[in-house]
Amino acid sequence: MKTEIIAVGTELLLGQISNTNAQWISKEMAGIGLPVLRHTVVGDNFNRLQTTFEHAQSRSEVIIVTGGLGPTEDDLTREAAQKVMQQELVNHEETLAKIQSYYDRNHRKMTPNNRKQSLVFSKADVLTNREGMAPGQLIEKDGCLWIFLPGVPSEMKTLMQDEVIPRLHKIYNLKSQIVSEMMRFIGIGESTLETELQDIITNQTNPTIAPLASEGEVGLRLTATGETTEDAYHKIALLKEKILQEVGSYYYGSDTVTIEERVRDLLKEHKYTIGSAESFTGGSFIERLVALPGASAVCQGGLVAYTAETKEKVIQVPKFLIKQYGTISHECAEIMALNTQSLLDVDVSISFTGVAGPEPSEGRHPGTVFIGIQIGEQDPEVHLFNFNGGRDQVRNRAVKKGYELLFH
Ligand code: ATP
Ligand code: MG
Repeated sequence: MKTEIIAVGTELLLGQISNTNAQWISKEMAGIGLPVLRHTVVGDNFNRLQTTFEHAQSRSEVIIVTGGLGPTEDDLTREAAQKVMQQELVNHEETLAKIQSYYDRNHRKMTPNNRKQSLVFSKADVLTNREGMAPGQLIEKDGCLWIFLPGVPSEMKTLMQDEVIPRLHKIYNLKSQIVSEMMRFIGIGESTLETELQDIITNQTNPTIAPLASEGEVGLRLTATGETTEDAYHKIALLKEKILQEVGSYYYGSDTVTIEERVRDLLKEHKYTIGSAESFTGGSFIERLVALPGASAVCQGGLVAYTAETKEKVIQVPKFLIKQYGTISHECAEIMALNTQSLLDVDVSISFTGVAGPEPSEGRHPGTVFIGIQIGEQDPEVHLFNFNGGRDQVRNRAVKKGYELLFH
């Protein structure tokens, strides 16, 4: 099978970014037994794109194109491919609705450019893009299989793994079996994780490793092929062991497990009960725990006290302490956690006090957050954070950090 990759984008030719898409796709394709024979990079130029596509059509059987599917003038991939595809471009209704609702949510007006992102070839198998707007497409045309993917690496990788590779398996009746596992880490950044695993990642072809960062945590997607599924799972298990040796302390679970579930299970294992004292998080911490089945075994309740007066009344934070240190302070977080432990009669208590923004409060910048933790008779811990982002992000990050602290 003759396979080639065409990466579209002038920034690649100018040396502003490296063609990591072609590198990553090549590894994946080699892993499933469809090795790539050619890489081409072409700028955002209509005529050169058209010629490149015509040549590809004449020499290859599988053609993977990344980039140029966005909303701007220089995104020309679809239009230039029309000559070889010989079919109409039509609006994909589902995508159009998704783009429309994005603009509605952000109270912005959708421009005609933005509609462009929903254009697909009329006979395409449309691949839903869960990470972004422009969908991928797969089209069979005159003995060639064309695959169009967005240029953004995370979108491209997710589409390859979730949509393209399973289809390639079906279409070419590939003998190998493919399985994958998403390892989830918290408390370590994407770049640190990649640095720690540098050697493993560089020398790895099967399984392949794809790091994915999301809000407050990092995932590593391991994808393996083997003659049987057992064989592929075995390869994943071996690699997983190596990874855990390096960064095991940050690993909290795989696939669909969430950090909230993990903390619930840890509390259960220790036969601990938990309660929260929450100011600017408004009860979100405890809400996420209560949302889980089995929460009743560990979760006693939460105290929500937004104003200073309510903190005095409900959590018995002394007036003098508030006067002396303010509510957004180490001291306040500490006493909130301590009092909640006895008020709710729990083993573990956690407190949140801070400034969600957008305005500063008590002379503290938005994003300043104190989280207090009291476990049994141990000394209380208080952690100070400075989170970036708007009000919602600060509140979300704080709650997630609370779970991370409990996990560690
Ligand atoms: P968008 O909707 O963001 O415009 P697109 O499908 O039009 O997506 P491009 O505009 O070509 O894609 O690229 C988007 C971004 O993805 C680029 O700015 C670049 O950072 C990255 N990117 C594109 N192509 C590659 C590539 N071959 N390798 C690595 N990164 C790439
Ligand atoms: Mg673009």
